[in-house]
Amino acid sequence: MDTRLKAGLRPRPSLTSGVAAGIAAPDPKSRKPAPASRPSVMLAPVLVLNATFEPINVTAVRRALVLMLKGVAQAEETNHTEVHSTSRAVQVPSVIRLLSYRHIPQQSRALSRKNILLRDRNTCQFCARAFPASELTLDHVMPRSRGGRSSWENLVACCYTCNNRKGDRTPEEAGIKLQRRPRPFTLHTSRQLMRLIGHRDEKWRKYLFY
Ligand SMILES: [Zn+2]
Repeated sequence: MDTRLKAGLRPRPSLTSGVAAGIAAPDPKSRKPAPASRPSVMLAPVLVLNATFEPINVTAVRRALVLMLKGVAQAEETNHTEVHSTSRAVQVPSVIRLLSYRHIPQQSRALSRKNILLRDRNTCQFCARAFPASELTLDHVMPRSRGGRSSWENLVACCYTCNNRKGDRTPEEAGIKLQRRPRPFTLHTSRQLMRLIGHRDEKWRKYLFY
């Protein structure tokens, strides 16, 4: 994946700026969420709602706890796990809500390798076979050398075999067929991705309407 795309994949600054530094809340001793010791819990997905209850993002438990400690968000749903700081236990959030409304421009929301693979269901868009994520790359349908952009409409999941075969050519030139035109990012895509990420968590359902 090219570095320009990577650079565009950073979490949205409006939700995350200063968050890493923000772990040091006023009294770090008592408020710092513990557990480097439980990395899997801290990395579990948390649905982020706007103040209006509109689902806007998915983050990790670790960041969600920081947003809660900073008073930026509150837990709407928790799961049955607790994490411990030196002075108290905190229920691990499953869904959090921002306390004040943030305007989130739609297009900037979610272009990432992970989301493109989710949209394409981990299926190579040329040979139509499903692969583990580690065996897929992203292909620019219109090659970057011809001005093809890194966008939802021009990136597709692609296995390495098809990627090598296609090379720096369009599908037509390479004689391989694109299974279907890559769909642009819409509110529907956004909801669908959140549903896919949260499919194991019943508590997300009522916010995502499924
Ligand atoms: Zn393929």
